[in-house]
Amino acid sequence: MNRKRESGKTREPKKPLEDYRLRTRLIHGSFATGRWDYDHHVIPPESRSVAFRLQSVHRGAEGFVEFATPVAQRAPIYIYDRLDEPTRGMLEENLAVAEGGEMAVTFASGMAAISAAIFSVTHAGCQVVTHRTLYGCTHELLTHWAPRYGLETTFCDMTRPESIAEAATKNCRVVYFETPVNPTLELIDIAAVREVVDQLNHGRSEDERILIIVDNTFATPYCQRPLALGADLVVCSLTKDIGGFGTDVGGAVIGPNRFYNLLMLYRKDFGGVLSPRNSWSILVYGLSTLATRMVNKQKTAMHVAQFLLKHPKVAHVSYPGLPCFPQLELAKRQMVSYDGKFAPGSIVYFELKGADGEAASAAERFVDYIAEHSYTITLAVSLGQIRTLIESPYSMTHSAVPDEQKRAAGVRPGGIRLALGLEDWHDIVADLEDALDAI
Ligand SMILES: *Cc1c(COP(=O)(O)O)cnc(C)c1O
Repeated sequence: MNRKRESGKTREPKKPLEDYRLRTRLIHGSFATGRWDYDHHVIPPESRSVAFRLQSVHRGAEGFVEFATPVAQRAPIYIYDRLDEPTRGMLEENLAVAEGGEMAVTFASGMAAISAAIFSVTHAGCQVVTHRTLYGCTHELLTHWAPRYGLETTFCDMTRPESIAEAATKNCRVVYFETPVNPTLELIDIAAVREVVDQLNHGRSEDERILIIVDNTFATPYCQRPLALGADLVVCSLTKDIGGFGTDVGGAVIGPNRFYNLLMLYRKDFGGVLSPRNSWSILVYGLSTLATRMVNKQKTAMHVAQFLLKHPKVAHVSYPGLPCFPQLELAKRQMVSYDGKFAPGSIVYFELKGADGEAASAAERFVDYIAEHSYTITLAVSLGQIRTLIESPYSMTHSAVPDEQKRAAGVRPGGIRLALGLEDWHDIVADLEDALDAI
């Protein structure tokens, strides 16, 4: 679908788009794209067509030959939704910009993106080295499904990046982690992992090299750009802060162009495409408001973390923005907004006082009280919405992770995860105070 333009009516920005600030670019996107002509829309249109009309058999054949190649990446011949589609393409261009990557490929969910990233660069006999704490479904993917396809998973403690070198065998192809880690918010030093992996890669041929894949869901690209810090690929759930409103599930893999072909072919055959409808919402409502939402949520998270820290019934608060955060120096170096400010994110993890059993039952009473009486805080999984959400990771999102592994990683039965929304922070604090008084 080539660009058609009304003569003399073309918008040409004075500066290259790269010279505009990212916050602006996430709103205006790359309107001059070879992917689709939508210059005359203020809001990008939503395409809804399973198949695309081809002018000739020759053109159809060309489309199949070019699919997933650099030519198609610039100006695809659309054939069928599962292969490529314009609304999704616009979102992908803007996601690549947001993460500082050359390309993005979206998927039907965060898990579809994570599985695609890992499985498209490995084969039977390969090893994946990963951090001991992971999102529950990623843990299941790597311990239950991956071994069925001959992939070996080894856990280590990446807060000590040297432990990767101890865990990796000659078959290691992927080093995978989240930072901040869900739910404890401990951080992994991406640049330090890069150094360890560079040493391991020394003398390895191109297809034996270890790739670093980082799940950037918790931080969002507003707070952290792993590619610039040394990651080979970024994966994220678009369902969370990028989508931002809790209405659409999606995922993406972002990185250099050399992975485009592989990911597009994988997606075509495994089939987990993001629908144009979800793509449109994430593009028009989600990504364009990410910066604004994150700025507000971070302020709230800081107020809430400080309130919890001072409360006599709270034993421990983990938030990368707190002066007492154990990895504060790393947080300040690694979590930085587009405009260069410290950006510690919107999630707070905390524990109530008491021995293990007591803290766990206090936490359950506390969360149940909130579920029943709080106006501003909702008991629900997921995060990154405009409503504040609370949950107990030990028994809910991380129930698939074995007990010993959770305890070793500091995920205790009394842990509570609070994902801040856009409510007035005074009201959130008042609801937390009320629930703490009640238990
Ligand atoms: C939610 C989440 C995922 C999975 O995303 P879905 O869109 O639910 O598939 C992966 N990683 C992290 C850190 C998450 O929070």
